Formats: sequence, C-alpha cells, structure tokens
Amino acid sequence: MSKRIEVKDLNIFYGSFKAVEDVTVTIEPRSVTALIGPSGCGKSTFLRTLNRMHEVIPGAYVDGEVNVDGQNLYGPGVDPVDVRGMVGMVFQRPNPFPTMSIADNVLAGVRLNNRRISKSDAEALVERSLRGANLWNEVKDRLARPGSSLSGGQQQRLCIARAIAVKPEVLLMDEPCSALDPISTLAIEDLIAELKENYTIVIVTHNMQQAARVSDKTGFFNIQGTGKPGRLIEYDVTETIFQNPANQQTSDYVSGRFG
Ligand code: ADP
Repeated sequence: MSKRIEVKDLNIFYGSFKAVEDVTVTIEPRSVTALIGPSGCGKSTFLRTLNRMHEVIPGAYVDGEVNVDGQNLYGPGVDPVDVRGMVGMVFQRPNPFPTMSIADNVLAGVRLNNRRISKSDAEALVERSLRGANLWNEVKDRLARPGSSLSGGQQQRLCIARAIAVKPEVLLMDEPCSALDPISTLAIEDLIAELKENYTIVIVTHNMQQAARVSDKTGFFNIQGTGKPGRLIEYDVTETIFQNPANQQTSDYVSGRFG
C-alpha cells in the first residue's frame, strides 16, 4: 500500500479558463503533504485532479500527467472509477449517508464499486476500517444506528473509515477539519499522523498551524491576479516552507504579509 505520486506539467481547465498552470511535483509515499495558499489559487482544483474528480464538472479537463506508482491516471484506457478506488477522498463537510447505518456507511464505497462481500467479511471490514479511523470504540455498540446520530467529528472519522474501507493507496482531504470544533480537529490530526504509516496523504488546509502540525511537506500555491492561473510556487519540507522558504511569495504568505 501507499504509492508515490508524480505530477508532470499539469494544466487544469474549467472550459476555456485555465485555473492551475504547470504543476510538476513528486509526492513521496507514506507522507503527508499540506497544500496552502490564498483562496482561489487552485488548491482544491489541483487536489481533485489527483483522483479524476475534477472532470466530473462539465467542460473541466486537464493536460499533463498524474502518475501514481508509475501509472498515468490520465492514460488511455484508465477507468476513473478504478482511480477513485485507489485514491480516496474526504471532503470539507462530513457527508455520511444520514439514514444509512454506521456499518452500512463504512461499506458504502465498497458496494458502489460493485464488490460483493460475505456478511462475515463485511463485519470484519467494518471493524477494521472503524479501528483505522479511530472510531471503533465509540461506535462498536451502535453500528446499526444511523450515521446522522454521530457528532460532527465522529461523522468525519466515519467518512475516513468509508474512504479507507475500499483500501486506497492515497487519501486526499479537502479541508477535512474546517467544519469541526478544536477537539475533533485534534482527533483528526492525530488520525492523519497514524494513517500516514499506510497511506500517501494530501490535505488542503486554510489553517497554517494545521499544515505545520500535520505535514511532512508543504506546497504553497499562489495566484498573480484575478483570472490568472494558480501556480505551485514552492514545494519543500514543511519546516523549510515555514522557516526558511526559497521564494519571496512563500515568505510573504507564511509570515502574513500580502501584496
Ligand atoms: P482554492 O481551493 O485554492 O480556494 P479553487 O481550486 O477552489 O481554489 O479555485 C481555483 C479557481 O478555479 C478559482 O478561480 C475558482 O473560481 C475556479 N473554479 C473552482 N471551481 C470551479 C467550477 N466548478 N467551475 C468554474 N471555475 C471554478
């Protein structure tokens, strides 16, 4: 499990609008990469190209390559559904299926992928995924209750359990804590630190302290003006980005100086 991501000359479009320009970066396996930068610079857009979610928007496309373990996700004959099995995603707002039970929520992704599993395998997978998401002890006695019966932080861990149940190699997280209270946020951050033992993780965050806390590497995106494409300005070890960045734009951003 856990694979290297190599992005080469990636340009990302919404119709005729080029939202992100010329990204080339290598993300090492079993590491956490944080993506930071001002709003609108293309962080979420870039993230969604890593599992072919970008192209579900009409008119949206990319050129360039995203290689996961040497395979170009945009190569001929690659099925986006397979890609999304290999590269899982967790969203800003926890989005469990509200009326579905906790256990069925964990299995939802597996069932969407049309994988048939026996009852005992399903039970084992539910337990393993909930343990992996640090939620098992809190929910093991109420697996049949609806997903909506959980707190926001628990729901987000349920969504992480659902994402890891399909056994992905890579986990993408788009501001996974922005709807959570500080205690739940810390629980998710601790979980990210554990998950990186097995997964390559890329997380978009608006919170620079969070980026500094959870990530090994940080990518700083910036935009030169409205209507201009976002660019990856600098990608390096998180400590370097925050304490000794090579680029003046990065330095201005992380020290809170703008424009
Ligand atoms: P960030 O995550 O850094 O805030 P986004 O990736 O959301 O930035 O947005 C990058 C650019 O792409 C922005 O100019 C935004 O308006 C544009 N954009 C985002 N989503 C869409 C969409 N569905 N259709 C058209 N343009 C979009």
